[in-house]
Amino acid sequence: MALRIAEQAALSDVGRARQSNEDSYLERAPLFVVADGMGGARAGEVASAIAVETARSSDVGASPEQDLATVVHDANREIYEKAQADSEHAGMGTTFTGALVTGSEVAVGHVGDSRMYRFRDGELERLTQDHSLVEEFVRQGKLTPEEAEVHPQRSIITRALGPEPDVQVDTFTFPARAGDIYLICSDGLTGMVSEDEIAEIVGAGPNLGASAKRLIDTANRNGGRDNITVVLFRLEDDADEDDGTDTLGDQATSAGVSADSVRAAVAEAEATTTHTAAPPRAESGGVPASSPISRRREPRIPRTRRIFAAIAALLVVLAAVAVIWVVDRQFWFVGTTSSGQVALYRGLPYELPLGIRLYSRERVSAVPATNLDAKQRSYVLDHHARGRGDSVALFDQIDAGAR
Ligand code: MG
Repeated sequence: MALRIAEQAALSDVGRARQSNEDSYLERAPLFVVADGMGGARAGEVASAIAVETARSSDVGASPEQDLATVVHDANREIYEKAQADSEHAGMGTTFTGALVTGSEVAVGHVGDSRMYRFRDGELERLTQDHSLVEEFVRQGKLTPEEAEVHPQRSIITRALGPEPDVQVDTFTFPARAGDIYLICSDGLTGMVSEDEIAEIVGAGPNLGASAKRLIDTANRNGGRDNITVVLFRLEDDADEDDGTDTLGDQATSAGVSADSVRAAVAEAEATTTHTAAPPRAESGGVPASSPISRRREPRIPRTRRIFAAIAALLVVLAAVAVIWVVDRQFWFVGTTSSGQVALYRGLPYELPLGIRLYSRERVSAVPATNLDAKQRSYVLDHHARGRGDSVALFDQIDAGAR
């Protein structure tokens, strides 16, 4: 069933430390964007506004990921050229995180450290990966995610619109579900409010407008060191779908987007599985935070629950190994060494995969197994496991024959 955008809300706030708000956003179903500008003398404001205006005036919907990438490339070129031409705007740039809802999917285009989250079944999941120095360090194992959150250089981003003539943009598509709430936000939120708190606020409702306000208020209460922008939208089943009314199409029309192009994109998405089955695209090798395909098959388990499950599994394995070891040490048997001499072993005469032996050699006799009589030989070659007393007595009996 197709989905409709049932509710949406957006708020932006200068915060408590900055003089101006350099964030910009677009909340125009089915397209939502957050851009966080940077550059002195309010140039960041210009850069983020160009990004959002480019999105607003774009003809999106026919090929969602490609359309988002085109918006990013067009905006990048315009910002870059303006920065080159005008010393007042030199060095300006902006992040861009945009979502385009089509049918039952959400396409995302992403550059920088603004983020997109999905709130589903009470869990908040980050859908984008920051293009930031600290996140690179986390990926390389040089920093833990907890260290990255408080790192002094956490606001340095490694990709932005503006600094270079071209830009790499991550694009990917997520299958959506009725009830999903999506959040796009600038780092003024995520730098001030933990993901647990964001999940609690978004989950508490009672509506997206109230959640947006509480997110901004919480960021300000925690310091408000940067501009804070939040865009929220919720998807529900489109009840009108069967009577031919395409709510998403209507929203697209009101947004100045061709409804036909959106419907065509929906039909295309529904007609071909390759669209969603293809791995998330990332130009020039960018990688999205996680694969939407794998997540569709395997519902995400919260991190703390995964850690507890891993610890529990480890304890079970350790307990099983301990039991096997204790039981194993009760057994003894008489066998031969690789050179054919009779030997006394402790444990069970078995070997596990990876060459793990359940026995250890205790004593070796000078007597070769070939010297034994038939009865003794069958005991030795059959590796009858038995108690310590029996095995030691048999070994001693054989060994005494050598003298
Ligand atoms: Mg910021």
